[in-house]
Amino acid sequence: MNKKTKEKTNTIKNNIYMLRFIFKHTPFMVCGYLFFDVLANLPWTLSNVVLLKYIIDVATEGRDYYRVAVALAVFVVFVIVTNLFTTLFYEISMPKQKEKLYFAVYKTIYEKAAKMDYEAYDNPEYYNDLVLAMNSMNERSYTVLQDVQDVLTNVISVLTIGTVIVSIDPICLLFVIVCVAIMTPIGRLIAKVNVERTEAMTPLDRKNLYFSRVFYLQDYAKELRLSRAGEMVERRYNQNIFDRLKTVSPYLTKQWKLYFCQESLPMTLLIYLGITLLMGYKAIVTKEVTMGDFAATFNGAASISTSVFALTSHLAINVRENGLYVEKFRSFMNAKEKMISGTKTTVFEKPPVIKFENVSFKYPGTEKYVLKNINLEISPYKKIALVGYNGAGKTTLTNLLLRLYDVTDGAITIDGVNIKEWDIKEYHKNFAAVFQDFSLFGATLGENVSMDAKPHKERVEEAVKAADFNRTLPDGTDSILLREFDDEGVSLSGGEAQKIAIARAFYKNCAFAILDEPSANLDPVAEYALNQSMTKAANDKTVLFISHRLSTTIMADEIYMLEKGEIIEHGSHEELMKLDGKYAYMFKLQAEKYN
Ligand code: ADP
Repeated sequence: MNKKTKEKTNTIKNNIYMLRFIFKHTPFMVCGYLFFDVLANLPWTLSNVVLLKYIIDVATEGRDYYRVAVALAVFVVFVIVTNLFTTLFYEISMPKQKEKLYFAVYKTIYEKAAKMDYEAYDNPEYYNDLVLAMNSMNERSYTVLQDVQDVLTNVISVLTIGTVIVSIDPICLLFVIVCVAIMTPIGRLIAKVNVERTEAMTPLDRKNLYFSRVFYLQDYAKELRLSRAGEMVERRYNQNIFDRLKTVSPYLTKQWKLYFCQESLPMTLLIYLGITLLMGYKAIVTKEVTMGDFAATFNGAASISTSVFALTSHLAINVRENGLYVEKFRSFMNAKEKMISGTKTTVFEKPPVIKFENVSFKYPGTEKYVLKNINLEISPYKKIALVGYNGAGKTTLTNLLLRLYDVTDGAITIDGVNIKEWDIKEYHKNFAAVFQDFSLFGATLGENVSMDAKPHKERVEEAVKAADFNRTLPDGTDSILLREFDDEGVSLSGGEAQKIAIARAFYKNCAFAILDEPSANLDPVAEYALNQSMTKAANDKTVLFISHRLSTTIMADEIYMLEKGEIIEHGSHEELMKLDGKYAYMFKLQAEKYN
């Protein structure tokens, strides 16, 4: 199959895929849309030809005028009835169906994204497909339906009117065929130029998106207010607009010429002039056809040409473009998980031994080992601190234990069993994790702590207390956090938010807690309180925590100091201080700052 044919087949397959998707979730929308559109358009198209011919013929022959009145009345009743149903469908049913469709699209994307390996986020191709799917697939799915419907309506119109014209005078159809034969290749050229234009504009569109992000996201709002960064961005934005105009100009000129050639010349010469002369001659001079035939063929030919024009130019472009979007959506939906889930489902009641056996790791798609030959053994209930400079590999080590990534070499075992043997979802039940870049959700305090739609009130209260969150909220654990779903939603400071994230670890009944920089946003007093409660509340867990604040590491049973992906020191705080190595150096440096 050559490239062009393959592309066409793919376009058709992708549009059909989307139609089936829509049909699966909102069958009424597909059927209704296609049926009602034909119902709404066909009477008008046919009236331009058939009814017009009938009225003129009756009028010129001086037959019973009441027949015209009856025909008109039938037509009007037909239009009113179809109008009633179509408006009911479009104005009442359609908006609801659309909501249903958008929900289905988002749900499908969310479910797929949540199932994907975490490492997929490091893959730009997957990530771009995800962003594109999230941003455009709801509207695009609807556009697919609209364009397919437009194609159908035009095809039906061409066929029905074509039949009427053939029945009047087949030669007229010859004019139409010649007109179409000229218009179609020009339509293809227009579509080609449009694709080239879209491709040329894509990088510039991306820049535009960046600019709008800068101006609407809160992340940038402070800097924009306190500096002249706005001007800096605006200058580049202006340049981008200039580049856009320069880039688009040659394409616009080409498209304009093609549109002019496609629309004006064949339509004007063959339909408006050709058919008028031919049918006018037959109606007036030779009287082979009636005046009604003349009007019907003229209108009909113009209508077919317009339909063909739509089919070969903008509809062809839209359908192709829709196909490309759907292709991205499909490739996102078909992306395979690399991480293989095992079958073991053990959820530990008491923490067992964790072992890293000669573990080395490099991130997918990179060549550098960020962890090298890590060997460590974590006994039950121990509080283990990971320390080291930025980039030493601490977070990566916890990511491996959480099986967000698989080790490159070596093995991690729990109770002697390789963690790869677990079903990933079940495995995660063993861990409570608080990440450096934790997120709060627009939900109640209880839901945010339990990470569940049905929080256990008393346990939530205990957990927030253990995390030293002392603020009294208006509705207690039922208070809504953030303003997304509630204008009265509670806003929290960085430290308060972090305490809620920590409370999650206290809430969850599980064997292990992993805390990445739990005290990063806390003041020294809150940090002290956290240390105290962590020893108390996390008594039933093995705790692995990463900290830059070495005051928190004093309470750890064991400390691992990492440097450039390797363990360089290991022991208790006292042992490491005695060793007087890098840990002791870092600790003294920090202690000096507090003195
Ligand atoms: P730490 O937690 O000690 O600050 P990390 O584990 O975050 O260190 O990072 C260790 C190394 O791995 C760093 O060099 C970092 O740039 C690299 N790294 C972290 N995340 C990724 C990633 N997703 N892809 C590629 N490299 C990464």
